[in-house]
Amino acid sequence: MTRSADAAAKSAELFRRATAATPGGVNSPVRAFSAVGGDPRFIASAKGCHLTDVDGNDYVDLVSSWGPMILGHAHPAVVEAVQKAAAGGLSFGAPTEAEIELAEEIIDRVDPVERVRLVNSGTEATMSAIRLARGFTGRSKVIKFAGCYHGHVDALLADAGSGVATLGLPTSPGVTGASAHDTLVLPYNDLKAVAKAFEEFGHEIAAVITEAAAGNMGAIAPHDGFNAGLRELTRRHGALLIIDEVMTGFRVSPAGWYGIEGVAGDIYTFGKVMSGGLPAAAFGGRTDIMEYLAPTGPVYQAGTLSGNPVAVAAGLATLRHADAQTYTALDANADRLAALFTEALSAEGVAHRVQSAGNLLSVFFTDRADPITDYAGVKATETWRFAPFFHALLERGVYPPPSAFEAWFVSAALDEDAFSRIADALPAAARAAA
Ligand code: PLP
Repeated sequence: MTRSADAAAKSAELFRRATAATPGGVNSPVRAFSAVGGDPRFIASAKGCHLTDVDGNDYVDLVSSWGPMILGHAHPAVVEAVQKAAAGGLSFGAPTEAEIELAEEIIDRVDPVERVRLVNSGTEATMSAIRLARGFTGRSKVIKFAGCYHGHVDALLADAGSGVATLGLPTSPGVTGASAHDTLVLPYNDLKAVAKAFEEFGHEIAAVITEAAAGNMGAIAPHDGFNAGLRELTRRHGALLIIDEVMTGFRVSPAGWYGIEGVAGDIYTFGKVMSGGLPAAAFGGRTDIMEYLAPTGPVYQAGTLSGNPVAVAAGLATLRHADAQTYTALDANADRLAALFTEALSAEGVAHRVQSAGNLLSVFFTDRADPITDYAGVKATETWRFAPFFHALLERGVYPPPSAFEAWFVSAALDEDAFSRIADALPAAARAAA
């Protein structure tokens, strides 16, 4: 059953009010529905795999707050841990035992990580990782890959994915030529380009930063040997390998993409799942590198709310509650969703590719027979088909990511009712995309 425009009247009214208070009416650009049109839905509450908006509409959530909610929303174990932590005080600006436990949980899962520093967002984690790599190596240049997004760090915004791709921005005004000058942007999955950059600038390159598997230009898995090749090249040239697991970490396996592929980075960045939906993130790596941070080393990094007890409690409860069954469910749900996409789009004759990286998923509208492996490939797809596809799903109570350049995030909470709703909605969405 579809919903009339009136069904979103309160969201529309709130969006008008929001635009008078906040740029674009939102606190993170992709939420504004800029790429798909229409008013964003204002959410009143969420439970399990469901979102409820301010008009009382219920949606099956396929965004999961952009990744963190692997257990579903308001999971009782996480809510209880948060309530208990909050009752004990919201912030101390002094160390707690729970911070050690969260750091240990990460160290136990991701072997190359020996020390962890907690921060407040994925952006802060990658920003700090870059500073640390530059300080540690005494070099300036950083290689990043087109279509990879590492948060809104000045040096990493060039040719970034996610919202930057959604809005079609090559980079951002406000990023100075000097900070962009030290960033080399190369095509994803192109080891030859990386080798060439090292031949030319080897002694100047502090680090290569890569998403463990790309999720911010849609889901694009690294070629076999790509991450291992980065490992080899960085080692040979005395540069560090920063593996960004903000999106994949603790989602695609209990040890993130590292658990799937086992390539060891020097520094890792984490966020999303490890904080259970509250604002916390982390970076970590080899002891000698991490100890180069203040107070043991000279590279400065700090945070008033870093290691916040409530966020740490949410992260710990999420990681501890996510068991083997959770990860089996995440993978199975992603596979099931992929099969439903293929079935509905094929029935309508809509040329497409469903691609995945672990349980991250994307639908690309294209008649390409071979996998899309980089940002140029993603940009060449028929992204204009995405908006009608999106709205047909939204009107039928399914909440997709509002951009063709984003991954779809399943939760373990998706149940039979949710899948029947998705299956019922998809034929109309496929017709809309045709
Ligand atoms: N790195 C990756 C791979 C991400 O996907 C994101 C956000 O989506 C970030 C970094 C930035 O994280 P945050 O939005 O918490 O700043």
